Amino acid sequence: PSLGLGGHSSRSRGRRRRPSSSPPLQLPTGEPADGIPGLIGNTPVFRLKSISEYTGCDVLAKAEFLNPGGSSKDRIALYLIERAEKEGLIKPHIGCCIFEGTSGSTGISLAMIARAKGYKCHIVMPDDIAREKSDLLVKLGATVERMPPCSIVDANHFVRVARRRADEYTEANRPENGGNGATGYFVDQFENTWNFEAHFTRTAPEIYHQVPEIDVFVHGSGTGGTLAGVTRFLKPRVPHLKVYLADPQGSGLANKVNYGVMFSSTEKEGTRRRHQVDTIVEGIGLNRLTRNFAYLFPPSPAGECLLDGAVTVTDQDSVYMSRWLMANDGLFVGSSSAINCVAALRVAKRLGPGHTIVTVLADSGQRHITKLWNDDFLRSRSLDSGTPQSLDQFFS
Ligand code: PMP
Repeated sequence: PSLGLGGHSSRSRGRRRRPSSSPPLQLPTGEPADGIPGLIGNTPVFRLKSISEYTGCDVLAKAEFLNPGGSSKDRIALYLIERAEKEGLIKPHIGCCIFEGTSGSTGISLAMIARAKGYKCHIVMPDDIAREKSDLLVKLGATVERMPPCSIVDANHFVRVARRRADEYTEANRPENGGNGATGYFVDQFENTWNFEAHFTRTAPEIYHQVPEIDVFVHGSGTGGTLAGVTRFLKPRVPHLKVYLADPQGSGLANKVNYGVMFSSTEKEGTRRRHQVDTIVEGIGLNRLTRNFAYLFPPSPAGECLLDGAVTVTDQDSVYMSRWLMANDGLFVGSSSAINCVAALRVAKRLGPGHTIVTVLADSGQRHITKLWNDDFLRSRSLDSGTPQSLDQFFS
């Protein structure tokens, strides 16, 4: 008899069965959260119904877009600020300032948490990023500096400027310079491995607790923090676990994972910039190995990677998946989430029915109104914004 598992009763290894109909109402319990930081994390996991029914797998998504700042980046923003507090690098309410070079969600999360905790926040971003992002940062209380785009070897690259501004701020506020000792803290999400730790200590244990029957984890990589943190935590605990990178077109990470090929450090920022203008996908894809991504290559004689493979997804397929999920699941996702879902679908189909596959929806379509969700913009990139008739389309 059907137990409401989407018509698939052949699941193996006696895994816990979960009904696909709505669960009975659960009233919230426990203490009130302690301010906005207390609302970060513990995001729910839910079944991607259309993809699960099509593949016969349980394809599950962690709803990171439900974090109060709208993305998974709330986690690292909170963790990096609290670690810096613990190390004595910053103190609240004395004028300490958080600095980061970012064009995306990390800045938004940092600005929100800085306000909640009593810090200033200064974000340096390229000046070709959509105006609505810098406007939002200002509304969240940050100061914003926009720089002409250039290579990271250039002293005016936005990340290098952010680092320099933090140093200048600390210097200017030294008591011997007449200041009160307030410091500047450069977050450095790509190279700061507290990013990895944030996911290793919070995101990954949550997934393990919520989906103990996990067989596969699928996720893209921007800084590498999420993928490396979750993989390093889960692999020793779930020996049969397979992990696949979901990579947008133009990114070099898939080649690194599948063939061990990576761009040289001299090419890296030129290609990163090209990659950014060549894809409509924001937040994931890279042509260099960050310190956080490097956790996926633990020291070993062969230097092998902890990932089991990589799936490259085109911009067109990310658009089609975003339209499919809206039309069939009522889900309004951003571009990296759409890429994750295409990769999860392909992995599920390849592995066959009965597997439990987990991916992450990092942010919602609301952060992508002017690109992924703008049909005129898509047309200007020769991309079709039609809704697929069937998931077969992703295999033709
Ligand atoms: N999706 C979005 C929208 C993001 O902003 C990011 C972070 N850049 C990611 C996915 C990837 O996360 P990570 O940095 O942990 O690799």
